[in-house]
Amino acid sequence: MSDHKAPSAHLGQESQLREQIATLGKSLFDRGLTMGSSGNISVRLDDGGWLMTPTNACLGRLDPGSISRLDVNGDWQGGDKPTKEHFLHMAMYAERPRSGAIVHLHSTHSVAVSCLPGIDPCDCIPPLTAYYVMRVGKLPLVPYHIPGDPSLGDAVRGLAGQHSAVLLANHGPVVAGKNLEAAVYATEELEETAKLFLMLRGENPRALTPEQVAELEARFPRD
Ligand SMILES: [Zn+2]
Repeated sequence: MSDHKAPSAHLGQESQLREQIATLGKSLFDRGLTMGSSGNISVRLDDGGWLMTPTNACLGRLDPGSISRLDVNGDWQGGDKPTKEHFLHMAMYAERPRSGAIVHLHSTHSVAVSCLPGIDPCDCIPPLTAYYVMRVGKLPLVPYHIPGDPSLGDAVRGLAGQHSAVLLANHGPVVAGKNLEAAVYATEELEETAKLFLMLRGENPRALTPEQVAELEARFPRD
């Protein structure tokens, strides 16, 4: 009985996650957080494989049944061909065994911050709000690499063990969460905080103190 139950539980989980990726992808697209065919989403499955949005797919019009499936080794197993940026996701998962989902967008305000001179490459955005600290934390800048270059994956991998989110210079954020909803919320929090940061440039805003940040980090671990 248990042998019969396990695969159907997996299939149920997979089809629900396919629907959730399409629903949240459309939500991100409809609110202008991603444009054209940019941005990609992945989710870790119980059997060790992954679902990932396909190459050249618009997040606003995903067909749940065509979402790519990768096996436990990260190799393409079914559905449409996965995003060309799949290696960004795999680099992040490799260092974050407890992360269940990853969102990567070219969201405008986050990209704007990634292009600014004088930002701290170890922490691009100051801790302006408690929710930013709780959902994103310290955001390091990954130096620019040409899109698709495997060296970009190596650079992300070098930071992902310590950070649930990284910002690719002149490109956009890569954000992990314990599940898809958490990864999407963190990406939204990052984009809105990037907007706040840009609004407050030159105003010398009062950020949270290191003690306030430490208290939040201790009380609300991310994943
Ligand atoms: Zn990208």
